[in-house]
Amino acid sequence: MVKQSKLKQISIKLTLILLINISLLNSLKSQFLNDEFCGAKESFNLDLRKKPWKGNNLFLSEYLKKINYYADIEKIRYRVPLKLWIYRKSDGSGGVSDEKIKDFIDNLNDYNKINNTGFRYYLREIENIDKSNKLTLGYFLEAPWQNIINHSKGCLNVYVTDTLKRKSFKKRRVNVRGTYNVITQSVIIQKSTSNTGLSHEIGHYFGLYHPHRNYRAGKRLQECVSRTRKAKGLFKKGLICERNGDGLSDTPAEPNLTFLVDNDCNFIGTSLKDKWGEKYQSSTSNIMSYPTHYKCRNSFTYGQIAVMLYKASKNKYQKYWNTENTDNLIYSVDEFEPDDNRNMANILEHAKIQEHSFHSVYTPKKKLDIADKEDWMKFKIEESSEGIAVITIKSSEKKISQINLIIENEKQKIIKQETISAQNREITINLNNLSAGWYYVKAEKTNIIQTKELDKYTIETLLR
Ligand SMILES: [Zn+2]
Repeated sequence: MVKQSKLKQISIKLTLILLINISLLNSLKSQFLNDEFCGAKESFNLDLRKKPWKGNNLFLSEYLKKINYYADIEKIRYRVPLKLWIYRKSDGSGGVSDEKIKDFIDNLNDYNKINNTGFRYYLREIENIDKSNKLTLGYFLEAPWQNIINHSKGCLNVYVTDTLKRKSFKKRRVNVRGTYNVITQSVIIQKSTSNTGLSHEIGHYFGLYHPHRNYRAGKRLQECVSRTRKAKGLFKKGLICERNGDGLSDTPAEPNLTFLVDNDCNFIGTSLKDKWGEKYQSSTSNIMSYPTHYKCRNSFTYGQIAVMLYKASKNKYQKYWNTENTDNLIYSVDEFEPDDNRNMANILEHAKIQEHSFHSVYTPKKKLDIADKEDWMKFKIEESSEGIAVITIKSSEKKISQINLIIENEKQKIIKQETISAQNREITINLNNLSAGWYYVKAEKTNIIQTKELDKYTIETLLR
C-alpha cells in the first residue's frame, strides 16, 4: 500500500512537470537563445511564491536590520548540507573525482564567504549512480525525473552529470551548464561548470533570479535602467526596478551579458538602451549574471543576500541549518571540510595553525545523523632527502574523543601512528629524513560518542 501511494505521488509530480514544460515550450520559446550558462530561466518564470519585497525593496533592508546582519556581517547563519548525486559509467568509472567535488564545495564556500552571505555548505554524502546512459541527461524530462527518483530530505540535492542537454522544437541543441528546477527544488550541474556555477544555481534555490530576467520583454516586464521610475497601473505599486527583472534595485538593469563583456570584465553594451530609451550601465560581476567570461562573476548584492537569508528562514529545514539554534552546534563544520578521504586532503602549510572539528551531518532521522569520523590533511616536502616535519596536535576541549593519527607517505605506507586521548591532549610528532613528496595525515575519531559538544583539535605543522 505504501509503495502504491508513493508511486501515485511520483506520477502526479511527473504529470505536473510534463504539463508545465509543454506549456513553457509554447509560450517561452523565444527565450531559449544564448542561454548556455544556466537553464533555470524558463521554469523560473513560474515561481509565483509570494515575494514580499516585490515593489518594496525596503522590506529587504529592514529584514537585514531585523536579523542584526550589519552588527556582524561575517557571521555564519546557516549551514546547509548538500547531497551530491554523481553520474558515472556503468562500470563505475568516469563521473567527477573527489578532488573536483572538494573544489566545488570549496569554491561555493569561498564565494559565500567573500560576499558575507551568511551561508556555508557542507557535504552530507555522495551517492554514485552508475548508468552510462544517464551521463547525458535531457533537460526537460530526464533530469527532473532523476530528481524525483533520487532524492533525499533535509538537504539540498545536487546532481552532477557529464552533459545536460536541452533541445526544443526546431532550435539547435544546447548544453546547459547548470540549472535549478523549481518544481523538484534540485540543482543539476554539468561537471564542467564554472567556479561560480554552484553558487549561481543555489542562488536560484534561495530565491534569486537572473538580473537580466525578461530583458527582451516590453515595458510591462522589462526592468528599466532608472532606479526611480515608478510603475504605472491600477494594481502596480512601487518602483519598476523593484518589480521587473530580478525585482532588486541594487542589481542594475542589464541585458543578457553573454557577448557584452570584454576580457577585462568591462561592460561593452553601453550603446544598448532599455524600452524607456536609457542606456544600460550594467555590472558584470554578479554571480547571477551571464557575463561573457566566468572569471568576472564574483559578487552578490545586499539585496540578493537578504533574499537568500529570508528564503532560508522560511525553509522547512531551517531549524536544523540555522546556527542560532544551540542544538545545531554539532553541525559546526570546520572550514577545511570536505576532507573525508585521501583525495580530499587539505594542505597543511608551514606554521599555519588549523582548527578542525569532528562534526555531525544533519539528516531528518536524527538517530541516523552521520558522524564525520575522518579528517585528511597533507603536507609537502620540497626536493630534499633530509626533510623535517614537526606536527603538533592539540585537542581544544576537555572531554574529547580518542583520536588516532596516522601519517603515510605517497605510497600509502604508514610512517607514524599516535593516539590523542582525554589523558594525553597534546602530542608533537617529529619526522626526520623525509624524502621529497607529499605526506598524508589522517585524524580518525575512534570512539563515537554522540554529545552536544563539538570535538575540536588544532594542528600545526613546521616544515624544513
Ligand atoms: Zn541561472
